[in-house]
Amino acid sequence: MASAPPQRPPARLTVLSGPSGVGKGTVVAEVRRRYPAVWVSVSATTRAPRPGEIDGVHYHFVDDAEFDRLIAEDGLLEWAEYAGNRYGTPVAPVRERLATGAPALLEIELQGARQVRARDADAQLVFLAPPSWSELVSRLAGRGSEPPAVQERRLAIAQAELDSSGEFDVVVVNDDVARAADELVGLLTAPSPGHVRS
Ligand code: 5GP
Repeated sequence: MASAPPQRPPARLTVLSGPSGVGKGTVVAEVRRRYPAVWVSVSATTRAPRPGEIDGVHYHFVDDAEFDRLIAEDGLLEWAEYAGNRYGTPVAPVRERLATGAPALLEIELQGARQVRARDADAQLVFLAPPSWSELVSRLAGRGSEPPAVQERRLAIAQAELDSSGEFDVVVVNDDVARAADELVGLLTAPSPGHVRS
C-alpha cells in the first residue's frame, strides 16, 4: 500500500526592514556566507545603479514605464516610493520559491513590510536596528554614496522608521554583523508557528 506523501511544512516569508544605513546589505551578505542556501528576492527599482551594482543581481533596474507596467499587471507583491524612487518585489519568483517549501527573504523598507503583512499574516517581520542614533548618522555619512541632501532625506525617513519598530515581530540590533547575521539565520530557519508538528 502506498504511504501518504510526507507533509511539507509551509515555507515562510521573512522580511528584513530597517532604516537606510543600518547595514541591511552587509548583514544579508553575511547571512549568504553563513547560510549559502538562503534565497533573497531581487527587487525592481527606478533608482539609478550605484557604482558596482549589477542589473539582475542587486536590483532589476527599470524605468518608470516598466515599473508602471509591473504594477498594472499585478506583478509586484508590494511596492513603495522611497526618497524619490520606486522599489518593488516581483511576486512570481517569491511564489515559486515558497512553493518549493523553502524560506524566502525580502530586504525592503517599512511601507513594503506593512503591505507584506497585510497580504501574508504568516510572514515574519524582522527590524534591523542600529545600536544608537548617532551610530546610524555616522554610518550613513560614512557610506559616501549619496550627496548630503539625499543623506538628509534618508535620515528623516530613518527617524520615522525607527519609531515604527514596534510593528515588527522581532528587532535585531546590528551591533555586530556576525551576531546579527546568526540571529537572522536562526529566524529564517525556524519552523513557522503555523506549522503543527505531528
Ligand atoms: P537603496 O536605494 O539604499 O538600495 O534602498 C533604499 C530602500 O529601499 C532600502 O530601505 C531598501 O531596503 C528598500 N528596498 C529595496 N528593495 C525594495 C522593495 O522591493 N520594496 C520596498 N518596499 N523597499 C525596497
